[in-house]
Amino acid sequence: MTQTKMSKAVQARRLEGLDKNIWVEFVQMAATYPSVNLGQGFPDLPPPDFVKEAFVKAVSGENFMLHQYTRAFGHPALVTILARFYGKLLGQELDPWTNVLVTIGAYQALFNCFQALVDEGDEVIIIEPYFDCYEPMVKMAGGTPVFVQLRLKAVEAGKLMSSGDWQLDPVELASSFTKRTKAIVMNSPNNPLGKVFSRKEMELIADLCVKHDVLCFSDEVYEWLTYDGNVHLRIASLPGMWDRTITIGSAGKTFSTTGWKVGWSLGPDHLVRHLRTVHQNSVYHCPTAAQEAVAQAFQRELDNYGKPDSYFVQLSQELQQKRDWLVQSLVAGGMKPIIPEGTYFMMADISELKSEVPELPDSDEPYDSRFVKWMIKNKGLVAIPVSAFYSTGHKRNFDHFIRFCFMKDEATLKAADDILQRWRMEKTGQ
Ligand code: PMP
Repeated sequence: MTQTKMSKAVQARRLEGLDKNIWVEFVQMAATYPSVNLGQGFPDLPPPDFVKEAFVKAVSGENFMLHQYTRAFGHPALVTILARFYGKLLGQELDPWTNVLVTIGAYQALFNCFQALVDEGDEVIIIEPYFDCYEPMVKMAGGTPVFVQLRLKAVEAGKLMSSGDWQLDPVELASSFTKRTKAIVMNSPNNPLGKVFSRKEMELIADLCVKHDVLCFSDEVYEWLTYDGNVHLRIASLPGMWDRTITIGSAGKTFSTTGWKVGWSLGPDHLVRHLRTVHQNSVYHCPTAAQEAVAQAFQRELDNYGKPDSYFVQLSQELQQKRDWLVQSLVAGGMKPIIPEGTYFMMADISELKSEVPELPDSDEPYDSRFVKWMIKNKGLVAIPVSAFYSTGHKRNFDHFIRFCFMKDEATLKAADDILQRWRMEKTGQ
């Protein structure tokens, strides 16, 4: 077929430089090579029965209207329960009709924030390492991302690192706020590091937001996944923050149903009304049956809140055990895992395996990306290079870490362990 050549540039300027995407590349590789997949963040085990049953009921029950459009800004049953559930947690009376907006996953909630509230010339502070889509989303809105790094403090010799060893430098953070700063993106528990920000760190950020009159987009999709007694704090509940914060959540992460793509934004009407403007001019409706099922699942969690029967309680216990298994496997395989306080991700230092994949000083590709490609092809194990979670200028400094997902079936984790044990034997002969 011949392609008509256009005399005009076809690509909108706002897309320049944003065509590469880590997920597209590595999901494709995982599908191409026979491998054990600890890459992308999704469960490879069934969601809990009460969640599946709620969906089945929604699609095959008597209410056939659940097959049609529902309220554009959120299915009534879902916004009502979200307002009740999160009202308690945020210490705010939430109005389901004005303080809650249902979206196509947390991705769309984030996109709405940047499109609705960031202008050309605005700066948006992003804490590194960060969930990769924040940067292109700021740029597509015409804003400028400003990066502040979590710094690794000295770790006792012989001890494994923890995500808590990575901290913000208060002076560096304060100096990243300028007259042009419009917003800061918070992500606690953080993907990819698994850090759960402490109250002190949250207060530091909140005080700076209030002082400089800055908005906060708080991505809390891993809110229920914390370990070792670490507590998830909601920045919107700190003094002065409700009025300037959008809190973002995801049923994909909350109920282990990433394919349903149900997410939400919570915040004051003076902010959420602008998110509704983007929503009504882009997606408009979200799938009705999935929203109904998520509403039922939340109702069950509300009834069981804090009790042993609560899925949120059970899930974090189960995941803490999986986390600990993966730590053992990675150590056996010669990597140095960073023990996450939250999320279902774990970063690991691969420096000691560098002899396996030679450094190529002239290569444009970060080392960790080449390492993971080699590992997929030669060892059949998928992870994600951590340089993907750093801005262009900082990728090279953080290209000796890779990220694993442990929200996986026991059989998958066992298969990964076998690969790592075999790998160690090939290297050491023991
Ligand atoms: N934020 C973070 C930190 C994530 O890790 C993800 C998914 N990997 C999302 C947002 C997107 O969530 P959803 O699948 O609900 O769109």
